[in-house]
Amino acid sequence: MRVLVTGGAGFIGSHLVEKLLQHGDSVTCLDNFDDFYDPDIKHRNLETARRSEGFHLVEGDFRDGELLDRLFRETKPELVIHLGARAGVRPSIADPLLYYDVNVNGSLRLLEAMRNHDVERVLMASSSSVYGNNRKVPFAESDPVDHPISPYAATKKAVELMSHTWHHLWGLKVAQLRFFTVYGPRQRPEMAIHKFTRLIDQGQPIPFFGDGDSRRDYTYIDDIIDGIFCIMQTDFDYDIINLGESETNTLTKLVELISGELKREPQLDRLPRQPGDVDVTYADVSHARQHYGYQPTTPLAEGIRKFTAWYLANRD
Ligand code: NAD
Repeated sequence: MRVLVTGGAGFIGSHLVEKLLQHGDSVTCLDNFDDFYDPDIKHRNLETARRSEGFHLVEGDFRDGELLDRLFRETKPELVIHLGARAGVRPSIADPLLYYDVNVNGSLRLLEAMRNHDVERVLMASSSSVYGNNRKVPFAESDPVDHPISPYAATKKAVELMSHTWHHLWGLKVAQLRFFTVYGPRQRPEMAIHKFTRLIDQGQPIPFFGDGDSRRDYTYIDDIIDGIFCIMQTDFDYDIINLGESETNTLTKLVELISGELKREPQLDRLPRQPGDVDVTYADVSHARQHYGYQPTTPLAEGIRKFTAWYLANRD
Protein backbone atom coordinates (compact mmCIF):
# COMPACT_ATOMS: atom_id res chain seq x y z
CA MET A 1 0.00 0.00 0.00
CA ARG A 2 1.15 3.60 -0.64
CA VAL A 3 1.18 5.39 2.72
CA LEU A 4 1.86 9.03 3.54
CA VAL A 5 3.20 9.49 7.08
CA THR A 6 3.42 13.05 8.38
CA GLY A 7 5.90 13.62 11.18
CA GLY A 8 7.62 10.44 10.07
CA ALA A 9 11.03 11.62 11.28
CA GLY A 10 9.83 12.02 14.86
CA PHE A 11 9.78 9.54 17.71
CA ILE A 12 6.59 7.59 16.95
CA GLY A 13 6.70 8.34 13.21
CA SER A 14 10.15 6.88 12.62
CA HIS A 15 9.19 3.59 14.30
CA LEU A 16 6.02 3.43 12.24
CA VAL A 17 7.85 4.16 8.98
CA GLU A 18 10.27 1.29 9.66
CA LYS A 19 7.45 -1.13 10.42
CA LEU A 20 5.53 -0.12 7.26
CA LEU A 21 8.65 -0.62 5.14
CA GLN A 22 9.24 -4.06 6.70
CA HIS A 23 5.64 -4.87 5.85
CA GLY A 24 6.35 -4.06 2.18
CA ASP A 25 4.45 -0.77 2.03
CA SER A 26 5.71 2.16 0.04
CA VAL A 27 6.14 5.12 2.39
CA THR A 28 6.32 8.84 1.79
CA CYS A 29 7.49 10.67 4.91
CA LEU A 30 6.57 14.36 5.12
CA ASP A 31 8.44 16.17 7.89
CA ASN A 32 9.74 19.72 8.26
CA PHE A 33 12.41 18.79 10.87
CA ASP A 34 11.27 21.64 13.08
CA ASP A 35 13.44 22.86 15.95
CA PHE A 36 11.22 21.66 18.81
CA TYR A 37 14.20 19.41 19.51
CA ASP A 38 17.49 18.90 17.67
CA PRO A 39 16.68 18.13 13.98
CA ASP A 40 19.86 15.99 13.79
CA ILE A 41 18.13 13.50 16.09
CA LYS A 42 15.27 13.27 13.56
CA HIS A 43 17.70 12.71 10.69
CA ARG A 44 19.30 9.90 12.72
CA ASN A 45 15.84 8.42 13.41
CA LEU A 46 15.52 7.79 9.66
CA GLU A 47 18.90 6.10 9.14
CA THR A 48 17.40 2.60 8.78
CA ALA A 49 14.41 3.74 6.71
CA ARG A 50 16.65 5.57 4.21
CA ARG A 51 18.26 2.26 3.25
CA SER A 52 14.93 0.92 2.02
CA GLU A 53 13.83 1.28 -1.61
CA GLY A 54 10.22 1.90 -0.66
CA PHE A 55 11.12 5.01 1.32
CA HIS A 56 10.65 8.52 0.01
CA LEU A 57 11.41 11.62 2.13
CA VAL A 58 9.81 15.00 1.51
CA GLU A 59 11.21 17.78 3.67
CA GLY A 60 8.40 20.27 4.01
CA ASP A 61 5.53 21.68 6.00
CA PHE A 62 1.98 20.33 5.90
CA ARG A 63 0.67 23.88 6.33
CA ASP A 64 1.84 24.47 2.74
CA GLY A 65 -1.21 23.69 0.56
CA GLU A 66 0.72 23.82 -2.74
CA LEU A 67 3.30 21.38 -1.49
CA LEU A 68 0.50 19.02 -0.38
CA ASP A 69 -1.17 19.24 -3.80
CA ARG A 70 2.07 18.35 -5.56
CA LEU A 71 2.85 15.58 -3.14
CA PHE A 72 -0.61 14.00 -3.38
CA ARG A 73 -0.53 14.25 -7.19
CA GLU A 74 2.90 12.64 -7.46
CA THR A 75 2.77 9.98 -4.75
CA LYS A 76 -0.95 9.09 -4.83
CA PRO A 77 -1.25 7.88 -1.23
CA GLU A 78 -3.94 5.31 -0.42
CA LEU A 79 -3.71 5.91 3.33
CA VAL A 80 -2.54 8.91 5.38
CA ILE A 81 -1.16 8.55 8.91
CA HIS A 82 -0.96 12.03 10.41
CA LEU A 83 1.48 12.10 13.31
CA GLY A 84 3.13 15.46 12.60
CA ALA A 85 2.39 18.08 15.23
CA ARG A 86 3.80 20.38 17.83
CA ALA A 87 3.69 17.99 20.77
CA GLY A 88 3.97 18.68 24.50
CA VAL A 89 1.71 20.31 27.05
CA ARG A 90 3.97 22.85 28.77
CA PRO A 91 5.49 24.48 25.66
CA SER A 92 1.97 24.93 24.28
CA ILE A 93 1.21 27.24 27.20
CA ALA A 94 4.21 29.37 26.19
CA ASP A 95 3.22 29.54 22.49
CA PRO A 96 -0.46 28.70 21.98
CA LEU A 97 -0.73 30.42 18.57
CA LEU A 98 2.04 28.32 17.09
CA TYR A 99 0.39 25.15 18.46
CA TYR A 100 -2.92 26.20 16.96
CA ASP A 101 -1.35 26.97 13.60
CA VAL A 102 0.58 23.71 13.24
CA ASN A 103 -1.87 21.34 14.87
CA VAL A 104 -5.21 22.75 13.74
CA ASN A 105 -4.55 24.71 10.53
CA GLY A 106 -1.97 22.16 9.39
CA SER A 107 -4.37 19.24 9.97
CA LEU A 108 -7.14 21.04 8.07
CA ARG A 109 -4.81 21.60 5.11
CA LEU A 110 -4.17 17.89 5.10
CA LEU A 111 -7.88 17.02 5.27
CA GLU A 112 -8.49 19.40 2.36
CA ALA A 113 -5.71 17.80 0.31
CA MET A 114 -7.27 14.39 0.98
CA ARG A 115 -10.68 15.64 -0.13
CA ASN A 116 -9.29 17.25 -3.29
CA HIS A 117 -7.31 14.17 -4.26
CA ASP A 118 -9.94 11.56 -3.32
CA VAL A 119 -7.88 9.90 -0.60
CA GLU A 120 -10.32 8.17 1.69
CA ARG A 121 -8.60 6.90 4.83
CA VAL A 122 -6.65 8.67 7.55
CA LEU A 123 -5.34 7.78 11.01
CA MET A 124 -4.60 10.85 13.12
CA ALA A 125 -2.66 11.25 16.36
CA SER A 126 -4.83 12.62 19.13
CA SER A 127 -3.88 12.50 22.78
CA SER A 128 -4.95 11.37 26.24
CA SER A 129 -4.61 15.03 27.25
CA VAL A 130 -8.10 15.66 25.80
CA TYR A 131 -9.51 13.98 28.94
CA GLY A 132 -8.22 16.94 31.01
CA ASN A 133 -8.76 16.43 34.72
CA ASN A 134 -11.67 14.01 34.32
CA ARG A 135 -12.28 12.25 37.65
CA LYS A 136 -13.75 9.02 36.26
CA VAL A 137 -11.01 6.50 35.52
CA PRO A 138 -10.11 4.63 33.43
CA PHE A 139 -10.85 7.10 30.62
CA ALA A 140 -13.22 5.74 27.97
CA GLU A 141 -13.79 7.18 24.50
CA SER A 142 -17.45 7.86 25.39
CA ASP A 143 -16.49 10.10 28.35
CA PRO A 144 -17.05 13.86 27.95
CA VAL A 145 -13.91 15.70 26.84
CA ASP A 146 -15.11 19.29 26.87
CA HIS A 147 -12.64 20.71 29.37
CA PRO A 148 -9.08 20.55 28.04
CA ILE A 149 -6.61 22.25 30.39
CA SER A 150 -3.80 23.11 27.95
CA PRO A 151 -3.66 24.67 24.46
CA TYR A 152 -2.09 21.43 23.19
CA ALA A 153 -5.04 19.36 24.42
CA ALA A 154 -7.49 21.86 22.93
CA THR A 155 -5.81 21.61 19.50
CA LYS A 156 -6.11 17.82 19.56
CA LYS A 157 -9.78 17.98 20.53
CA ALA A 158 -10.38 20.59 17.80
CA VAL A 159 -8.97 18.28 15.14
CA GLU A 160 -11.08 15.37 16.40
CA LEU A 161 -14.13 17.60 15.84
CA MET A 162 -13.07 19.04 12.48
CA SER A 163 -12.21 15.62 11.07
CA HIS A 164 -15.70 14.42 12.00
CA THR A 165 -17.09 17.18 9.81
CA TRP A 166 -14.92 16.04 6.86
CA HIS A 167 -16.22 12.52 7.52
CA HIS A 168 -19.84 13.67 7.58
CA LEU A 169 -19.70 15.96 4.54
CA TRP A 170 -17.22 14.21 2.29
CA GLY A 171 -17.14 10.63 3.52
CA LEU A 172 -13.57 10.66 4.77
CA LYS A 173 -12.81 7.62 6.93
CA VAL A 174 -11.07 8.78 10.09
CA ALA A 175 -9.50 6.99 13.04
CA GLN A 176 -8.52 9.37 15.83
CA LEU A 177 -5.93 7.67 18.03
CA ARG A 178 -5.68 8.90 21.60
CA PHE A 179 -2.13 7.96 22.58
CA PHE A 180 -1.28 7.70 26.28
CA THR A 181 2.30 8.83 27.16
CA VAL A 182 4.39 6.87 24.69
CA TYR A 183 7.99 5.92 25.55
CA GLY A 184 10.79 3.75 24.24
CA PRO A 185 13.92 4.14 22.10
CA ARG A 186 14.05 7.58 20.37
CA GLN A 187 11.55 9.13 22.78
CA ARG A 188 11.57 12.92 22.49
CA PRO A 189 14.40 14.23 24.67
CA GLU A 190 12.19 16.60 26.69
CA MET A 191 9.73 13.90 27.76
CA ALA A 192 9.94 12.83 31.41
CA ILE A 193 11.30 9.30 31.00
CA HIS A 194 14.06 10.38 28.62
CA LYS A 195 14.89 13.52 30.58
CA PHE A 196 14.97 11.75 33.97
CA THR A 197 17.16 8.99 32.56
CA ARG A 198 19.64 11.52 31.14
CA LEU A 199 19.79 13.63 34.31
CA ILE A 200 20.06 10.70 36.72
CA ASP A 201 22.80 9.18 34.55
CA GLN A 202 24.68 12.49 34.61
CA GLY A 203 24.30 12.77 38.39
CA GLN A 204 22.12 15.87 38.09
CA PRO A 205 18.89 16.68 39.95
CA ILE A 206 15.62 15.91 38.22
CA PRO A 207 12.65 18.34 38.24
CA PHE A 208 10.10 16.57 40.44
CA PHE A 209 6.71 18.23 40.20
CA GLY A 210 4.26 17.89 43.08
CA ASP A 211 4.54 15.17 45.72
CA GLY A 212 5.09 12.30 43.28
CA ASP A 213 1.56 10.91 43.36
CA SER A 214 0.52 12.10 39.87
CA ARG A 215 -0.14 9.02 37.76
CA ARG A 216 0.37 8.25 34.09
CA ASP A 217 -0.53 5.42 31.79
CA TYR A 218 2.84 4.84 30.08
CA THR A 219 2.67 3.00 26.75
CA TYR A 220 5.63 1.24 25.21
CA ILE A 221 6.34 2.22 21.59
CA ASP A 222 6.04 -1.34 20.20
CA ASP A 223 2.51 -1.61 21.61
CA ILE A 224 1.54 1.70 19.98
CA ILE A 225 2.95 0.63 16.60
CA ASP A 226 1.16 -2.74 16.82
CA GLY A 227 -2.03 -0.84 17.67
CA ILE A 228 -1.67 1.43 14.64
CA PHE A 229 -1.16 -1.65 12.47
CA CYS A 230 -4.26 -3.40 13.83
CA ILE A 231 -6.35 -0.30 13.14
CA MET A 232 -5.02 0.47 9.66
CA GLN A 233 -5.88 -3.08 8.58
CA THR A 234 -9.46 -2.87 9.84
CA ASP A 235 -12.43 -0.96 8.41
CA PHE A 236 -13.44 2.22 10.23
CA ASP A 237 -15.76 5.07 9.30
CA TYR A 238 -15.19 7.63 12.03
CA ASP A 239 -13.79 6.30 15.27
CA ILE A 240 -11.92 7.50 18.34
CA ILE A 241 -9.64 4.90 19.87
CA ASN A 242 -7.62 4.93 23.10
CA LEU A 243 -4.18 3.40 22.74
CA GLY A 244 -2.63 3.00 26.19
CA GLU A 245 -1.19 0.26 28.39
CA SER A 246 -4.25 0.40 30.69
CA GLU A 247 -2.00 0.43 33.73
CA THR A 248 -1.23 3.50 35.76
CA ASN A 249 1.95 4.31 37.73
CA THR A 250 2.97 7.18 40.01
CA LEU A 251 5.80 9.58 39.28
CA THR A 252 7.60 8.21 42.37
CA LYS A 253 7.41 4.66 40.99
CA LEU A 254 8.70 5.83 37.60
CA VAL A 255 11.76 7.47 39.16
CA GLU A 256 12.41 4.34 41.28
CA LEU A 257 12.35 2.14 38.18
CA ILE A 258 14.69 4.39 36.17
CA SER A 259 17.19 4.85 38.98
CA GLY A 260 17.04 1.10 39.71
CA GLU A 261 18.02 0.30 36.13
CA LEU A 262 20.79 2.94 36.10
CA LYS A 263 21.94 1.87 39.60
CA ARG A 264 22.18 5.50 40.68
CA GLU A 265 20.41 7.41 43.46
CA PRO A 266 18.15 10.13 42.03
CA GLN A 267 18.43 13.69 43.32
CA LEU A 268 15.03 15.38 43.38
CA ASP A 269 14.55 19.07 42.67
CA ARG A 270 11.10 19.43 44.26
CA LEU A 271 8.87 21.88 42.41
CA PRO A 272 5.17 22.79 42.56
CA ARG A 273 2.78 21.00 40.26
CA GLN A 274 2.73 22.60 36.79
CA PRO A 275 -0.29 24.32 35.27
CA GLY A 276 -1.65 22.31 32.35
CA ASP A 277 -0.44 18.99 33.77
CA VAL A 278 -3.25 16.54 34.50
CA ASP A 279 -3.36 14.53 37.75
CA VAL A 280 -3.90 11.12 36.20
CA THR A 281 -4.12 9.38 32.86
CA TYR A 282 -5.49 5.87 32.63
CA ALA A 283 -6.76 4.28 29.42
CA ASP A 284 -9.75 2.03 29.09
CA VAL A 285 -8.63 0.09 26.01
CA SER A 286 -11.61 -2.28 25.76
CA HIS A 287 -12.82 -0.60 22.55
CA ALA A 288 -9.42 -1.04 20.88
CA ARG A 289 -9.25 -4.66 22.08
CA GLN A 290 -12.75 -5.63 20.97
CA HIS A 291 -12.89 -3.87 17.60
CA TYR A 292 -9.28 -3.85 16.47
CA GLY A 293 -7.58 -6.72 18.32
CA TYR A 294 -5.23 -4.34 20.18
CA GLN A 295 -3.17 -6.14 22.83
CA PRO A 296 -0.56 -4.14 24.72
CA THR A 297 2.02 -6.44 26.28
CA THR A 298 4.79 -4.34 27.84
CA PRO A 299 4.49 -3.50 31.55
CA LEU A 300 6.33 -0.38 32.69
CA ALA A 301 9.19 -2.21 34.45
CA GLU A 302 10.04 -4.14 31.28
CA GLY A 303 9.69 -1.06 29.06
CA ILE A 304 11.97 0.98 31.32
CA ARG A 305 14.56 -1.82 31.19
CA LYS A 306 14.48 -1.69 27.38
CA PHE A 307 14.51 2.10 27.27
CA THR A 308 17.46 2.54 29.64
CA ALA A 309 19.41 -0.16 27.74
CA TRP A 310 18.82 1.82 24.53
CA TYR A 311 19.76 5.06 26.26
CA LEU A 312 23.04 3.67 27.62
CA ALA A 313 23.99 2.26 24.22
CA ASN A 314 23.25 5.56 22.44
CA ARG A 315 23.99 8.34 24.93
CA ASP A 316 27.20 9.44 23.18
P1 NAD B 1 7.77 14.22 17.60
O1 NAD B 1 7.91 15.68 17.90
O2 NAD B 1 8.95 13.35 17.83
O3 NAD B 1 7.27 14.03 16.11
C1 NAD B 1 6.48 14.98 15.43
C2 NAD B 1 7.14 15.23 14.08
O4 NAD B 1 6.32 16.16 13.36
C3 NAD B 1 8.54 15.88 14.17
O5 NAD B 1 9.47 15.09 13.45
C4 NAD B 1 8.35 17.25 13.55
O6 NAD B 1 9.51 17.69 12.85
C5 NAD B 1 7.18 17.02 12.62
N1 NAD B 1 6.42 18.25 12.33
C6 NAD B 1 6.00 19.19 13.21
N2 NAD B 1 5.37 20.19 12.57
C7 NAD B 1 5.37 19.87 11.25
C8 NAD B 1 4.86 20.52 10.08
N3 NAD B 1 4.23 21.69 10.17
N4 NAD B 1 5.06 19.92 8.88
C9 NAD B 1 5.70 18.72 8.79
N5 NAD B 1 6.20 18.06 9.88
C10 NAD B 1 6.03 18.63 11.08
O7 NAD B 1 6.52 13.73 18.47
P2 NAD B 1 6.00 12.27 18.82
O8 NAD B 1 6.19 12.06 20.28
O9 NAD B 1 6.55 11.27 17.87
O10 NAD B 1 4.43 12.45 18.58
C11 NAD B 1 3.82 12.07 17.35
C12 NAD B 1 2.33 12.43 17.44
O11 NAD B 1 1.69 11.76 18.51
C13 NAD B 1 2.06 13.92 17.66
O12 NAD B 1 0.90 14.28 16.94
C14 NAD B 1 1.79 14.01 19.14
O13 NAD B 1 0.98 15.13 19.46
C15 NAD B 1 1.05 12.69 19.36
N6 NAD B 1 1.15 12.19 20.73
C16 NAD B 1 2.34 11.79 21.22
C17 NAD B 1 2.40 11.29 22.52
C18 NAD B 1 3.70 10.80 23.13
O14 NAD B 1 3.67 10.39 24.28
N7 NAD B 1 4.83 10.82 22.41
C19 NAD B 1 1.23 11.21 23.31
C20 NAD B 1 0.04 11.64 22.75
C21 NAD B 1 -0.01 12.11 21.46
